[in-house]
Amino acid sequence: MRVLVISDIHANLPAFETVLKDAEGEWDYVWCLGDVVGYGPNPNECCDLLKTLPHLCLAGNHDWAALGRLDIRTFNADARKAVTWTIETLTEENTRYLADLPTAFVLGDYTLVHGSPREPVWEYILDPLIAALNFPQFETPICLVGHTHTPIIYQLVSEQGDTDPLPPVYREPKSLKGQRLIINPGSIGQPRDNNPDAAYAILHVEEKIFEHRRIPYPVEHTQEMMRNVHMPERLVTRLKHGW
Ligand code: ZN
Repeated sequence: MRVLVISDIHANLPAFETVLKDAEGEWDYVWCLGDVVGYGPNPNECCDLLKTLPHLCLAGNHDWAALGRLDIRTFNADARKAVTWTIETLTEENTRYLADLPTAFVLGDYTLVHGSPREPVWEYILDPLIAALNFPQFETPICLVGHTHTPIIYQLVSEQGDTDPLPPVYREPKSLKGQRLIINPGSIGQPRDNNPDAAYAILHVEEKIFEHRRIPYPVEHTQEMMRNVHMPERLVTRLKHGW
């Protein structure tokens, strides 16, 4: 099976559509690692489009925020405004869809979570140390995560738990065989690695071949829609900078 691995769409329809077009004909199933909504201008459109695809999807922290499951008083003012708008905008049907998302999946050799295996909704795997602490927390060879919006692979390189970060090499298939890895495909709708292009990956599940990808999308279109619904300007401009 060929899987389109995506994460952190963040209600950015132009980015999501661009990725689907770029990967057209190259996948059979979608694994979405959470944060379908939050920040972006198209929460319903992104849920609706995802629901038309053969897919599974995990719950992210922003999906939970959009369900009112979080105390958003701890969010900064911009994030709070975006969450409130998302809660008000989501249809009842899409709210129900998000409410039913699980926090983890184990499928053969792959564990899937939004954040990390030990804290599936919350923890950010931002460096090799945090990755190292998470390797004992899942039993499959490979774990796929999102949440940080940064494409990367962490490889376990010793029995003592030493972990190396491997930067993504785009459009170059990589064999995952015989390795223990934590892999992040990056974010479709709000990349945070100083590269505004949408990020995603293609995984050949049984063959264990993985490929990181980037594709430019019409950022200005998303920004215009965000301004039309009065999203905070800081959230609008960051898309242009990939941060
Ligand atoms: Zn996110």
